[in-house]
Amino acid sequence: MAQGLLEGKAGVVFGVANKRSIAWACAQSAAAQGARLILTYQGERLREGAEELAAKLPGEARALPCDVGSEQALDEGFVAIGELMPRVDFAVHSIAYADKQELEGEYLTTSREGFQRALEISAYSFTALARRLSPLMTAGGSLVTMSYLGAGMVVPHYNVMGVAKAALEASVRYLAADLGPRQIRVNAISAGPIRTLAASAVGDFGTILDLHKARAPLRRNVEGAEIGDATSFLVSDLARGVTGCVLFVDGGFHITAL
Ligand code: NAD
Repeated sequence: MAQGLLEGKAGVVFGVANKRSIAWACAQSAAAQGARLILTYQGERLREGAEELAAKLPGEARALPCDVGSEQALDEGFVAIGELMPRVDFAVHSIAYADKQELEGEYLTTSREGFQRALEISAYSFTALARRLSPLMTAGGSLVTMSYLGAGMVVPHYNVMGVAKAALEASVRYLAADLGPRQIRVNAISAGPIRTLAASAVGDFGTILDLHKARAPLRRNVEGAEIGDATSFLVSDLARGVTGCVLFVDGGFHITAL
């Protein structure tokens, strides 16, 4: 396995809830490749856990609060981020939210409030972060967000989150076009299903995992570490020519029809 891909780079990983979080897998991989990191968590409820995780990383990783639910909360979060890390080289957005009742049954019944909340937290927040991060990326940079197959295809119960991921993937393309001239690359990873806190809200998630394992060309589910390593690649100089893309890290499931 390559080592030192991110030596000398400083990055922020948004969305650590616990040790199952994809954000934590990304942080572990990036730290192992030599990056200096800030991890962010949503709020006080998650502070202790996030600080404990940050303390386990090599280097001097710090955990900071950053709620993406309002402009004010974001501005407050970025005061501390900017003080600790005046130059940011990469950032990982690993944040999503939809009310549990929107992730059961039919998409047809999605409420106005549920739609707004899911789109705001899961899609708009990436643009809001990019706007605040890009001035800190003074030597160019790389942004990565986490998507899922449900962005482009119907996955039962994924519902409004699929619509949010479609908006997120479109945002990747528009942000890549806006930020490319500043040598800031913007990409998404479309991750296969992994048992996490967010995934547990999706109705019948066990069936999705079973189907994936049976049908994916690699005949298994992916692990967080595989998402983390692909993210380290995308934010490293090895991917310096890659922007505006959605990289599937799903054991190949997305190519299967039947
Ligand atoms: P997770 O629950 O560990 O992470 C979701 C994170 O979003 C949590 O840290 C949560 O605190 C954060 N969050 C929610 N609302 C927030 C807010 N207002 N402000 C700040 N943070 C907020 O679950 P995960 O599966 O690691 O999810 C990470 C990303 O990966 C999400 O975008 C998810 O959609 C995506 N993803 C997950 C899977 C999967 O199967 N687990 C597959 C593909 C994509």
